[in-house]
Amino acid sequence: MTEPTMRIVIVGGGTAGWMTAAALARFAPPGYTITLVESDAIGTVGVGEATIPAIRQFNDALDIDEGAFLAATKGSFKLGIEFQGWLQDGHSYMHAFGPVGRQLGLLPFRHFWARGRAQGLAKPLAHYSANELAARTGRMATDAKGPGIPEVPYAYHFDAGLYAQFLRRYAEARGVIRIEATLAGASRADNGDIAAVQTDDCRAIEGEFFVDCSGFRGLLIEQELHTGYEDWSHWLPCNRAVAVPCEPTGNFTPYTRSTARSAGWQWRIPLQHRIGNGHVFCTDFISEDEATAILMANLDGPALADPRAIPFVTGRRKQIWNRNVLAVGLSSGFLEPLESTSIHLIQSAITRLLTVLPGQQIEPAVVAGFNRRAAAEFEHIRDFIILHYWANQREGQPFWDRMRALELPESLAQRIEEFRSVCQIQPSQDELFTEVAWFQVLAGQGLTPRSWNPIADRYPAEELTRFLGSVEQAAIETVRPMPMHIDCVAAVCGAAKTEMAA
Ligand SMILES: Cc1cc2nc3c(=O)[nH]c(=O)nc-3n(C[C@H](O)[C@H](O)[C@H](O)COP(=O)(O)OP(=O)(O)OC[C@H]3O[C@@H](n4cnc5c(N)ncnc54)[C@H](O)[C@@H]3O)c2cc1C
Repeated sequence: MTEPTMRIVIVGGGTAGWMTAAALARFAPPGYTITLVESDAIGTVGVGEATIPAIRQFNDALDIDEGAFLAATKGSFKLGIEFQGWLQDGHSYMHAFGPVGRQLGLLPFRHFWARGRAQGLAKPLAHYSANELAARTGRMATDAKGPGIPEVPYAYHFDAGLYAQFLRRYAEARGVIRIEATLAGASRADNGDIAAVQTDDCRAIEGEFFVDCSGFRGLLIEQELHTGYEDWSHWLPCNRAVAVPCEPTGNFTPYTRSTARSAGWQWRIPLQHRIGNGHVFCTDFISEDEATAILMANLDGPALADPRAIPFVTGRRKQIWNRNVLAVGLSSGFLEPLESTSIHLIQSAITRLLTVLPGQQIEPAVVAGFNRRAAAEFEHIRDFIILHYWANQREGQPFWDRMRALELPESLAQRIEEFRSVCQIQPSQDELFTEVAWFQVLAGQGLTPRSWNPIADRYPAEELTRFLGSVEQAAIETVRPMPMHIDCVAAVCGAAKTEMAA
């Protein structure tokens, strides 16, 4: 049997381009050549700092040493996301990673909590999550385990530009060819597939498969193939962000903060060398100048650069894989970073690509299956984000009033009703957000179940109180020995192996 060969050309060298290049360099068979074209003149989007725990699987698969990664990207740990003011001013809750409570018998914790809340026996959810307790007390350990709470999952904050550079070194060391050039178009094969991309100085870079990582412009997937875009602005009308880094303060929190503002929300992401900040807003309700003024008035320390505006349209490409082009990253679609999902969408597109890596032939059935799954993933995340906005109680504020009046996607309306009626949450297996994630946001946004599984009623009140107390104690015991976040980052970076050890 002859060895399969394929020339894969990656267009763009942002986070998406270099994550794709690094993964292909690590896993593609020997006959595959990987070329990445990027333009220093055009540059990258330059934001994107918060992730979810799945990123660790990506780094692990590439044998990336955690210390080397964290040191190179000036990263920090992330135990969850705090939502300040999303229900109403002064209110705060957390979508913390990891378990909240534990099941009793075979029944999820939420039923016992719902009954406990209704009968005045249970405390707010924060008391039953080791992640949240650690986050709010500024503690972090990479190997935390506690009685009855198996692990404290975590993600990272990092400088995405430095991550791309880190992965570039990784990929180039494993044979990826980088071409610095600005692309001006593409040429087609007889069957309509892309045959080559053309540089503005008339060079042609040929390939059999192209990964479009060119960012919002979608150089191949849209400008060349006219794939089309499904616009979700009617559900998620925020269409612009202003971003600015500021000097770090002593408050080195191991979590992302999202604070509701009059027509959007503000992120705060602490890194080792700076805090990343941004204001996501809707221009129907507030001007860019006003949004910038709000952002600049709400920084922890002095700004380190001028604020920068980034316009966007929420939605997804109608086909993420079209002909011999796969869109990865911002070229595939955009969902605002409320739940830190964009880098994850890059990761899952790459994982899916590796699973169905084309040989000589691209099978239409495989492409259709890929697109179906990618579309479902975007839609699940979209629904989760809409929930945060819709379930607000910020009455009298025009933007938030409009969000409360949204006509919800059927899939989300059903999920909310299931929770409100009988405390059920049933995400399918391939959904990114687990029932615990949904539970925290549904409950955090003030939705209260009218009833719960009757099995939760079998336990006498004293037994339920004891159970809830033991869960709370387990969270306290898990967090007690954990060092402070700042010390944990220093220890992990200090133990870094050389970057290219893998
Ligand atoms: C406001 C905002 C906040 C975000 N926050 C987060 C977050 O907290 N967490 C998260 O996971 N994600 C976040 N993201 C998303 C994240 O920034 C992106 O998913 C990630 O950076 C990937 O970008 P990219 O590589 O697709 O595109 P880009 O970074 O735009 O890179 C595009 C690449 O294509 C190249 N290119 C373009 N045109 C040409 C051409 N003609 N010729 C040659 N090269 C070309 C460019 O030079 C560049 O290298 C955020 C995005 C925005 C807009």
